[in-house]
Amino acid sequence: MISLSTKVEEIPKIGTVYAKRLKKFGIKTVQDLLFYFPARYDDFSEIISISRARQRLNDVVCVQGQITEIENSNSFKKFMSLTEATIQDNSGEIKIIWFNQPYLSKNLKEDDFVCLAGKISLGKDGVYFNSPSYERINEIGENEELTHTGRIVPVYSETKGVTSRWLRYVIKPLLYRFCEQIQESLPEEIIKKYKFLPIQEAVWQLHFPNSFEHADAAKARFSFEELFLIQLNVLKEKIKLMVKKAHACPMDSDLMKSFTDSLPFCLTDSQKKCAYAILKDLEKTVPMSRLLEGDVGSGKTVVATLATLNVVKCGHQVALMAPTEILAKQHFKTVSELLKDFDVKIGMLTGKDARIFKEQNTYEVSKKSFLGDLENGQIDIAIGTHSLIQKGVDFKDLALVILDEQHRFGVEQRDHLIKNKKLVPHLLSMTATPIPRTLALTAYGDLDLSLIDEMPANRKKVKTIIVEPSQRKEAYNFIDKEVKEGKGVFVIFPKIDSAATKQKELEAKGRPTSRGMSDVPITGSFVPQNYGPMSLASLAVNEVKALKEEYEKLSKEVFPDLRITMLHGKMKAPEKERIMLDFKKGEIDILLSTSVVEVGVDVPRATIMMIEGAERFGLSQLHQFRGRVGRSDMQSYCFLFTTDPSMLNRKRLKALVESNNGFELAEKDLEIRGPGSLYGTQQWGIPDMAMQGLTNIFLVEKTRAAAKELLEKDPSLEKHPQLKERLKEFEKRIHFE
Ligand code: ADP
Ligand code: MG
Repeated sequence: MISLSTKVEEIPKIGTVYAKRLKKFGIKTVQDLLFYFPARYDDFSEIISISRARQRLNDVVCVQGQITEIENSNSFKKFMSLTEATIQDNSGEIKIIWFNQPYLSKNLKEDDFVCLAGKISLGKDGVYFNSPSYERINEIGENEELTHTGRIVPVYSETKGVTSRWLRYVIKPLLYRFCEQIQESLPEEIIKKYKFLPIQEAVWQLHFPNSFEHADAAKARFSFEELFLIQLNVLKEKIKLMVKKAHACPMDSDLMKSFTDSLPFCLTDSQKKCAYAILKDLEKTVPMSRLLEGDVGSGKTVVATLATLNVVKCGHQVALMAPTEILAKQHFKTVSELLKDFDVKIGMLTGKDARIFKEQNTYEVSKKSFLGDLENGQIDIAIGTHSLIQKGVDFKDLALVILDEQHRFGVEQRDHLIKNKKLVPHLLSMTATPIPRTLALTAYGDLDLSLIDEMPANRKKVKTIIVEPSQRKEAYNFIDKEVKEGKGVFVIFPKIDSAATKQKELEAKGRPTSRGMSDVPITGSFVPQNYGPMSLASLAVNEVKALKEEYEKLSKEVFPDLRITMLHGKMKAPEKERIMLDFKKGEIDILLSTSVVEVGVDVPRATIMMIEGAERFGLSQLHQFRGRVGRSDMQSYCFLFTTDPSMLNRKRLKALVESNNGFELAEKDLEIRGPGSLYGTQQWGIPDMAMQGLTNIFLVEKTRAAAKELLEKDPSLEKHPQLKERLKEFEKRIHFE
């Protein structure tokens, strides 16, 4: 018995060969296949007479007619096969040419009736149909059961050996048989409230819509549903935490004042506001989950240190985790300096190093003695990498975990940290990655948000300049001059864009793409592409090769007397670290790297950020690169080089020149490049419809409210078994980090 849960290989039309190909899309069962939605549609719904079609040169049209002749030939160039045919209706006749589809003359015979959809082109013998989509019909005028022509036709994201035509051919009969068995997953009250299409109809209409309005309605339903599932997922985590208890750390106002008085500067209003929100959270027994966002250099560390001091003085421990050793070391230095007069013991643990700062001095200690001190409470603040949450690391009384640039830290990891203890630590996550509101409310929906949205007053704005190809020499001269004054220069060289390279490869092989007729995208270009391990490996090699070539050029031709060093993702961490430190110390003039420059590394002497192929990066990412410079009172510069003169690209880069605000730029990215450009969204496995939904703040708010309401009434979803099941499946696919 075949059912929705039947494996696709058991469907006769599919078999093991196609099943294997479908796996690339994550399709394993009939149900998966029915939920594999088209990426866009071709509008072939208007059928016209052949005589009218002949007048629509360069248009995409659809006609029906009878084949009067059809013939295959191996044409002019040996490797190209041609199928030529003529069809007629009572208004006239037209020639058809298909390229490279030799099997066609076996499928289509003289006297057959066909429906054709495609472009009318002009050849040397007049107008002809250029490689149209086709399907056989019983008679002219038939339009009931059309699949590939004569209707709004779904176009799917394809993979090798799986074409849209094949998918339509397989999916349609399965829809007839199984669509009615699909169980409704949204609660009835939600369907009613928002007047959504029921799931069965929505699935049908997404594949074979009666009209674009129908397709939109179906899409709206699934956008809602996917975002709703994300909301349920994050809010569930939040509820799980709400019932746990954390240390309440009362705010010590006098202490806070003496800390801020000890700083060589005044906190900005933003910093004060954020610090206050954090200190208020820490007073509660409900574990804090807060995301502190602020541009690079906005002063998050000071805010975190202030909260840390308060917690330590309440008698508890704090852990501060950084993504890399170099950042951990930097934090150790900064925090030790900031707290040097407050009598706290600060420890640092990285892969190979353990250090302690107490009574104004730093000591190297053995890892063993470090771990002992941590366990018996001799260390107040532990700073490190992920080494801090490894086995064998045990805190006496951990009350606050601070994460720098790691975004996410699940309930599980918190549980891991407290092991057998009763209280869970508060959590403060810091990031310089600007997160637009929609994303903050979804993927980060379990976190409360604090924003540092102003920079310390003493900063000079980084001058951002789009450098025209003709000005390259001038820019190089400027760099030369700055370096001779002792300043440091970053050069960012773009990674080779794997998608673009792959597309070029395909085009070079002459594989016809079915694209380029009427473009009605529904999911844009965020559909995950699958590239085999071979091609990935060769891309990585290419990347290093391109970087090396650039290095040769810069060090031999452009700046022969400057010290230039390369940094790339294939290097080992210690090597990268050594290079960064040399650069910091001024032993390297120009650091040439791919986009791996560590987030947050502070090199005050660096004043120039030069970015090649700037069009390859998102605005937020460019903004982050720019944040590497301008970290002192010297005037800094960001040079954007681009080889793409298109208006869209100009517009984007101009936005960067004009705005210095990471959030504005993130919203712009979202607007111009779509949600796929946002940090994390590619890796998280957010499904297409939800991605699209991320551009719509109203939709996001609606789904959030709906999820909240439902979880309040039915926290474990017992009363909604279908939804619970769907959420479980969904959670297997998404993985926020
Ligand atoms: P972030 O981690 O947000 O990138 P940091 O906390 O490292 O930023 O701060 C960057 C630099 O700015 C540090 O040298 C810090 O001492 C300094 N700083 C922080 N707050 C202020 C302020 N309000 N006024 C002046 N300088 C500040
Ligand atoms: Mg920082």
